[in-house]
Amino acid sequence: MTIADREVANSRESRKGKGDQTMQATRTQDAIALVESSTAHNYHPLPVVVAEAEGAWVTDVEGRRYLDFLAAYSAVNFGHRHPDIVAAVKEQLDRVTLTSRAFHHDVLGPFARELADLAGKELVLPMNTGAEAVETGLKVARKWGYEVKGVPVDQATIIVAEGNFHGRTISVVSFSTDPVARTHFGPFTPGFRVVPYGDAAAMAAAIDDTTVAVLIEPVQGEAGVVVPPAGYLAEVRRLCDERQVLFVADEIQSGLGRTGTTFACEHEGVVPDLYLLGKALGGGVVPVSAVVGDSDVLGVIHPGEHGSTFGGNPLACAAGRAVVAMLSTGQWQRAAVELGAHLHARLSGLIGRGVVEVRGRGLWAGVDINPELMSGREACEALLGEGILVKDTHGSTIRFAPPLVVTRDEIDLAVDALGRVLAARGA
Ligand SMILES: *Cc1c(COP(=O)(O)O)cnc(C)c1O
Repeated sequence: MTIADREVANSRESRKGKGDQTMQATRTQDAIALVESSTAHNYHPLPVVVAEAEGAWVTDVEGRRYLDFLAAYSAVNFGHRHPDIVAAVKEQLDRVTLTSRAFHHDVLGPFARELADLAGKELVLPMNTGAEAVETGLKVARKWGYEVKGVPVDQATIIVAEGNFHGRTISVVSFSTDPVARTHFGPFTPGFRVVPYGDAAAMAAAIDDTTVAVLIEPVQGEAGVVVPPAGYLAEVRRLCDERQVLFVADEIQSGLGRTGTTFACEHEGVVPDLYLLGKALGGGVVPVSAVVGDSDVLGVIHPGEHGSTFGGNPLACAAGRAVVAMLSTGQWQRAAVELGAHLHARLSGLIGRGVVEVRGRGLWAGVDINPELMSGREACEALLGEGILVKDTHGSTIRFAPPLVVTRDEIDLAVDALGRVLAARGA
């Protein structure tokens, strides 16, 4: 029995409930009831209340342990409370945490230089959340379009892909194709054209003289870990060069090691004009996002034209520096390749046994289960009972994105649990 097996056995044992089971269960129910009576219902979480976490494991308020196979949508790529990240943040907490950009502080320069170098670019514009990085990318692209490309003022268009997920602000949901994200949030921001994802010909047809940028995810995460056809990203890059259009890659979920490379664009040897980064950039500790590009593009922004009180704050920069240092060794990317191959091999073994399709890249998989057996939500609830935390995306798709510290044995535990859950429904 491996350590991981024992963990799950213990955890199953505790789940069976002995001792003060009622009091324990009440703890979960009370915590959930308080959230439900006190917060807007903009989420529908699985019924688990996490109290502590370390590495790939979390512990709930009743002391039960679970393997975290969501990793906060890849924001926890390096595992919960990675010691390097925690140490960097603790040290910074004792020095200075916030100055605003009205003054300089001594962590922004090193963070920006190190992140730009990691991306092979010249400049960084730091923000906080992913949606802010996307908004920043859109603003930069429009301004570049007017001032460099010479598009007539207020005529700029930006091409996006069907099934996209780029965040939740008004402008960003303006070009979402998910009715749930859009309904009753109009009027919407104009200036966007939507084309099918993975269709380079449609992209070519949509570009005209007003087009300033193409904004795409190199792998569509929320859509269900959708990998575009081979050659697509390279062809979009070629089109952008030919038509003088910026290639803006939303690598907020796909970037920083998840797919086995620092950036998912690398799988096709593509270098975008702007990288949008977020999620894992904050090391799972604080929200840190950034737009990374060269000075001929990011240089269009001048004082007063864009900013954020918290963007580039010392604490964020300390977390970001630790993350960039970790990614600089290549060790995490290699882990994602090796563990990802194992994850995909094991999940593929369930095809025809309740699983219809498995997609993905690196340590990232979208698993379509047979909708006749159960919904994605039901599968996640059943896996929760098995001590595995995952989240459905659409309908009958569940996403596997464990932290890159996960082991092969832990991957086996999760895939075996999925097999049991499906078999219990007659798969
Ligand atoms: C999560 C995500 C965002 C939005 O990030 P937030 O920090 O939630 O605002 C944008 N783009 C992609 C691809 C994402 O996965």
